[in-house]
Amino acid sequence: MSSTSIEEFRQEVRSWLEKNLPQELRVGSRKGLPKDSLRKWTEALVSRGWITPEWPTEYGGGGLDRKHAAALKAELKAIRAPMITSFGTMMLGPTLLEFGTDEQKQEFLPQISRHEVVWCQGYSEPGAGSDLASLQTRAVRDGDDYVITGQKIWTTGADKADWIFCLVRTDLAAPKHEGISFILFPMHQPGVEVSPLTLIDGSADFSQVFFDGARAQAKHVVGPVNGGWTIAKRLLQHERTTDGGSEGGITGAMKETLADFVKREVGVENGVLADPQLRQRLAQQEIEAKALKLTMRRAREEARAGQTARDIGSLGKYRWANMVQGEQNLAMLALGTQGLGWSGPGFEDTHLERTRAWLTTRADSIWGGTNEVQLNVIAKRVLEIPE
Ligand SMILES: Cc1cc2nc3c(=O)[nH]c(=O)nc-3n(C[C@H](O)[C@H](O)[C@H](O)COP(=O)(O)OP(=O)(O)OC[C@H]3O[C@@H](n4cnc5c(N)ncnc54)[C@H](O)[C@@H]3O)c2cc1C
Repeated sequence: MSSTSIEEFRQEVRSWLEKNLPQELRVGSRKGLPKDSLRKWTEALVSRGWITPEWPTEYGGGGLDRKHAAALKAELKAIRAPMITSFGTMMLGPTLLEFGTDEQKQEFLPQISRHEVVWCQGYSEPGAGSDLASLQTRAVRDGDDYVITGQKIWTTGADKADWIFCLVRTDLAAPKHEGISFILFPMHQPGVEVSPLTLIDGSADFSQVFFDGARAQAKHVVGPVNGGWTIAKRLLQHERTTDGGSEGGITGAMKETLADFVKREVGVENGVLADPQLRQRLAQQEIEAKALKLTMRRAREEARAGQTARDIGSLGKYRWANMVQGEQNLAMLALGTQGLGWSGPGFEDTHLERTRAWLTTRADSIWGGTNEVQLNVIAKRVLEIPE
């Protein structure tokens, strides 16, 4: 692919998008998109390997180098194409590429890049969230299998998942970070029970998952047995860089930009937002978003050039969470009492959508490690402050 110049490649992508991306999908990654169009769009991406553009073609990826992949992403973003992402593409896949055996890569990566298998993440437990290494779910060897007993919580998408990547304790006597393994197993089997939980925004995408004698094949342990903590941390780095550095979080998924929304709600006088205080806040919000984007781009360039080995994922995740919460707080200020609706008459759909988005963003400073945990990581690994 590097034989095609970036400009030629961009042209190729643009004409491909004209042919393959239906008009009704050019609205960003939103809920409720027409299923048929979305399926065809997914198939088109899969046929080019563009769900996972940087993965090798032998695993169903696009085989693009970093620059071509970035050009593709920019074109997709410019046309507001819905992104097809998952736990598989963003977290498990990159982790398997680094730590998986050849057999594991062959077995799992092509299914992920073809968007055929849905994965969920079995990390958190009722007594192990921020202090993840305290997890108690056990896996005991039985012939070629492990037998798993315990409980996970806040497992996003568990009710729809085919497989789980899961942290389990395989050595009870070892110090807590040294007795953990990272294992993969199917969700649809006896001994796995999923119980959905409803969150503050009314969504029920999360579950408690109970294991009582569930089975995993021993060959599906990723990395060394009892050496899962290293794999778990690496996967978390991928999770934390998923959103850090994106320009406008949830606003990208809404019908209109934050600025347009605030202008519509508050009104415009002499070409500027009518309320001077909100005008200031909106400007500040946009500056934050641009500064974060540029900082993350600079940090990524530095990391690629080998100028720093520091883990900047936590920094991006922390600032990003604050930014998206700030965006939705601002939207609520613009809405006033119209932001208090939940359902029913008296509220426009766009108002209700914003209220729920505001509630949804409360979770952004919790998932993937809370803001306080990110600050601890930044102190230790970025600023290198001694404990
Ligand atoms: C939307 C969403 C999706 C999620 N999806 C998944 C998923 O798919 N899979 C999964 O495994 N988990 C998932 N989680 C769980 C998430 O990882 C945990 O909620 C998170 O790690 C915090 O753990 P906890 O809820 O047990 O809170 P706790 O760890 O009990 O923390 C409670 C409070 O104490 C603070 N705190 C704790 N320790 C420290 C410390 N050392 N220093 C300073 N403050 C501290 C925290 O910041 C927090 O404010 C999800 C959570 C959310 C909100």
